[in-house]
Amino acid sequence: MGVRKRLFLGLLSAALLILAGSLVYVWLTLFKQGSSVLRFLSGLAVLAVLVVLSVVGIGFVGIVISLLSERNIRLLEKPMNFTVAVLYPVVIRLGKMFRIAQDRIQRSFVEVNNQLVRARKTRSAEGRLLLLLPHCLQGSECTRRVTANPDNCLRCGRCSVGDLLNLGDRHGVPLRIATGGTLARQAVRETGPLAIIAVACERDLTSGILDAIPLPVLGVTNERPFGPCHNTTVNLEAVEKAILFFKERRD
Ligand code: SF4
Repeated sequence: MGVRKRLFLGLLSAALLILAGSLVYVWLTLFKQGSSVLRFLSGLAVLAVLVVLSVVGIGFVGIVISLLSERNIRLLEKPMNFTVAVLYPVVIRLGKMFRIAQDRIQRSFVEVNNQLVRARKTRSAEGRLLLLLPHCLQGSECTRRVTANPDNCLRCGRCSVGDLLNLGDRHGVPLRIATGGTLARQAVRETGPLAIIAVACERDLTSGILDAIPLPVLGVTNERPFGPCHNTTVNLEAVEKAILFFKERRD
C-alpha cells in the first residue's frame, strides 16, 4: 500500500481509537454517578454509541482488508461507507491537531476511495456513467456558457473541455460542468448514473465523493499550472482509464 494511502488509513485508525477511548472514559465516569436512574439512562446512551462504534469498527476492518487484498467484501460495503462518513470529520480534526496539510489528507482519501472503488469491481455501468467536471477547466477568456450546456463549447482546443467532450462522445458518456456542490448534485439527480468519474481539486473531490455515497466515484485530480481555480487542466488518459474501468463487463 502506498505511503499516501497510509496517511488516511493511519488517521482513520487514530480517529477510531480516540472515539473508542472516549466512550470508555464516559462510561467509567457515568458509572460513578450516585443515582441509579441516571446510571441506567447513561448506560443506555453508552450502549447506543457502542452499537454505532461497533459498525464503524466493522467497516474499518472491511476497508483495511479491501485495501490490502484489493478485493471487495460485498457484505461490508455499507459499514465501510458508514465508517468513512462518520470518521472523516474526526480525521480532518486530527490532521489539524498534527498540523498535516488538509490537501495531503484529501489526496490520500481520494486514493483510498479510488482503490476501494476499483476493488469493488461493480457490474458494468456502460450507458449509465456521468463525467463531472469543474468550471475551472474552462479557459478563463472563453465566454461560452458551458455550465448551462456543455454543447455550447466550440471544441476550439484552447482548454481541456473540448477534448473531454470528444472523449465523452467516443465512449457515450454524458458530461456536466458544475460550479459547485449544488450543481453537481443536480447533475447527478438529473442523469441518474450508476457510477461517476469526477475531475476536481482534492477538496472538491473529497466532498463530492462523500456526498455521492453509496454511488461509486472515481476521482481524477485536476492539474493547476496557474494556481487553484484558474485555467486548470486534466490528464485525459487518467479520465479515459476511469471510464474504461466502469465500462468493463465483469458479469
Ligand atoms: S474548448 Fe474552447 S469553446 Fe470550449 S470551453 Fe474551452 S475555450 Fe471555450
